[in-house]
Amino acid sequence: MSYGPSSRHRFSWKKRRKVGSVGTGVLAALSSLPEGASARIAAGPMRTRTYFSIGDILLPICKPRSSADVQTYPLRRTCIYIPQAQVVHGTGGRNVIQHAASHHGHSGLSSARTTYFWRYLDLEGRYEVIILPLESSISRPLIVYRSLRVADDIETRDNLKTFRAEFKGDLITPDDEGYDVSIHRWAHNAIKRAGIVAYVKDPEDVARAIKYAVAAKLDIAIHSGGHSPAGNSSTKGGLVIDLSRFINHVNVDTEKKLAYVGGGANWGMFDAATIKHGLAGVAGTVHHTGVGGLATGGGYGWLSARHGLTIDNVATVVTADGSILKANDKENPDLFWGIRGGGCNFGVVTEFVMKVYPQRTTVFCGIVVFHPEKLDKIAAYLDDWWPRATENEGIVVILTRGPDGSPNVVCFVNYNGTEAEGRAAYKPLFDIGPLVDTAKDMDYLQLNVITNSLAEPGLNYYFKGALLSRDKPSADLNQEKFAKIMDLTKDRAHTTACVLEYIPHTKINSVPEGVTPFRRDLPGNILINSQWKGDEPEKLASARELTHGIAELFINEVGYGNYGTDQDAMLTRPGQTSPDKVKALFRENYPRLQTIKKKYDPNMIFNKWYNITPA
Ligand SMILES: Cc1cc2nc3c(=O)[nH]c(=O)nc-3n(C[C@H](O)[C@H](O)[C@H](O)COP(=O)(O)OP(=O)(O)OC[C@H]3O[C@@H](n4cnc5c(N)ncnc54)[C@H](O)[C@@H]3O)c2cc1C
Repeated sequence: MSYGPSSRHRFSWKKRRKVGSVGTGVLAALSSLPEGASARIAAGPMRTRTYFSIGDILLPICKPRSSADVQTYPLRRTCIYIPQAQVVHGTGGRNVIQHAASHHGHSGLSSARTTYFWRYLDLEGRYEVIILPLESSISRPLIVYRSLRVADDIETRDNLKTFRAEFKGDLITPDDEGYDVSIHRWAHNAIKRAGIVAYVKDPEDVARAIKYAVAAKLDIAIHSGGHSPAGNSSTKGGLVIDLSRFINHVNVDTEKKLAYVGGGANWGMFDAATIKHGLAGVAGTVHHTGVGGLATGGGYGWLSARHGLTIDNVATVVTADGSILKANDKENPDLFWGIRGGGCNFGVVTEFVMKVYPQRTTVFCGIVVFHPEKLDKIAAYLDDWWPRATENEGIVVILTRGPDGSPNVVCFVNYNGTEAEGRAAYKPLFDIGPLVDTAKDMDYLQLNVITNSLAEPGLNYYFKGALLSRDKPSADLNQEKFAKIMDLTKDRAHTTACVLEYIPHTKINSVPEGVTPFRRDLPGNILINSQWKGDEPEKLASARELTHGIAELFINEVGYGNYGTDQDAMLTRPGQTSPDKVKALFRENYPRLQTIKKKYDPNMIFNKWYNITPA
C-alpha cells in the first residue's frame, strides 16, 4: 500500500488548509495547526475518558495506561486521521488500514466519527495499529502522513539479519534482558519504549545502525547521557543509537592540551580524566549529564566565565551520518559550524576533541541558604557585583521551597581560587547572614557535584528556560516576584526550582555573532525546573502550566535551546500563528543551518530537539 503520488488517498495538506472545511472537534483543532506541528496523543484502551491535547486544547478520548503512552509526534510523520462512519475495532496491521482507507478514505462524510490510527513498523516489518474512536463532525478526510511506503516485510527481516550479523556492539529488543535499563532516562517521563536499542561500539556501528533504521523506516534517537527531560533521546518503536555503553572514553593529550571525548561520556568522566593532569574544560554543572547533548547544544559550566561555552572549545568532531566524517576548521567546515550549537540535527557525534586548560585542583564552593526576608539585600549585593564579576566567580541563585515547604533562597557559590580569596570576594554576601553555609575549599571534582541535589534521577521533570534581566539582578530578584513564585508553588504537588545563573558572560559573548550558530547576546540563563512523582497526565499538564507561569515573570524568550523542551520548541495554540521557536532560537543563523541540513540530512532522519527544516 502506498500513500505516494499515485495513491487515490493522497491528500494535500496545503489544499486542505485552503479549503478549510473541516468541522468541529479534533479536526477543527488540527486544521489550525501549521504543517509540521506536534500534537500530543494519548494512546491506550478505548472508552475511558482522558485527554487528547493539541497545544492547549484538551479533548476527551481514552485513558492512557501510563505516561509512556502519552507522546508528542510530529503530525506529518506518524499519524493518520481518517474519518469513517463506523468504528473499526481491533489491531492487525495493514489490512485494517486498507479496510478503513478504502471504505472511508476520501468520501467526505459529515457528522461522522473520526478514527485515529497510530502505527509504526516493528522489527519484523509489521505495523502496529491502534484505533481510537473520536466524536467529530467532519466534511473531508484528512491523511496527515501521505508519503509512507510500506516496507516489504521480507526485505526488512533480511535487513535485520544482516544488521545483527555486522553490528559489533549490543542490540537490545523488548524481549531481551536489560531492555528496561536500556530505555531508562534521567527523567522518568522521558522514557519511551524503543523498538531496538543499539549500543554502538564505534563510528562504523553508528553508520550501520543508521543504514538499518533508514531501510526499515524506523525513527532514530541518539542517546548520550539521557538527560533530555523532553525525551529527545528516546523513541517510541524506533531505534536508539546509544553511545553511553561503549563510546565513553576520555583520553587526554597533556602536551597539546586536548581531550578526546566519546560522544557517550558524561561530565563526571571528563572531569575525572582531565583534572588528574591538572587540566579542566567547560563541563556541565551536574556531573552525570551527558557530553553528547550538552556539547552539541551549546554548553554552559562554571568555567564558562573563563573559557566560554563548551562549543567554543571543540576543535574537531567525528560524526556518522551514514558515512563517517571528521569536521573541524579545515575539514567539512560547514558541518563543524553547524554542529556547534545546532544540536543533533546533522548526525551522531562519536568523538569531540576539546581544549582543556590548566586548573587548580581545589576550588571554593558550596551551598549558602538564606531566609527569604534577606532577598532584597542579596539582590542589592548582586546589583553591585554582577557588572564587575570576574572570570573566577559565579553565583547561582535558586528561588524554591525547602523539603518542609518553607520558602528559601539558595545560593550556589563558586570561586576558582582559595577559600580566603572566595570569602573576601563575596564578603558582603556572607555578611548578610545565611541560615546555612557549606562553602569551603573543595576538590575540583566536587564542583560539578554540588548542584546534583536538584537533579535526582528517576522523577518526572518539566524544564523551561528564560533569560536574566538585561537591567540588573534586582529586576528579577525582588519580594514581589518571589511572592508570586511562592504563590504559584503553594499547593506543593510539584517541587519547583527557579534557577538564576549568574555566570559571567563576558567571555561567552566575546565570540562574534555568526562564528557558531549560538546566540552571543544572551544576558544569562534562568532555568525553571519542576519535578513530580506519578504518571497522571494531569500532573504533566499542571507542571507545564506552573513552569510557564513562573517563566512569564522573567524575559520569557527562547534563549538556550538545551533549557527548552520540545513542547516549547513546537508549542502551537490552535487558531494562533505558531511562534516557530526553532527560527527564534537560531535567528539570522537559521537559513545557513537549513542549507547545511539539506546537505547532510535532507530527509530529516535526525529530527529531535529543535528540528531544522532543510532548505
Ligand atoms: C540535571 C541537568 C543538569 C544540566 N546542567 C546543564 C549545565 O550545567 N549546562 C548546560 O549547558 N546544560 C545543562 N543541562 C541541559 C543539558 O545540556 C541537556 O539536557 C542535554 O541535552 C543533555 O545531554 P545528554 O547527552 O545527557 O542528553 P540526551 O538525552 O542523551 O540527548 C539530548 C539530545 O542531544 C542529542 N545527542 C546526544 N548525544 C549526541 C551525540 N553524540 N551526537 C549528536 N547528538 C546527540 C540527542 O539526539 C538529543 O536530542 C542540564 C540538564 C539536566 C537534566
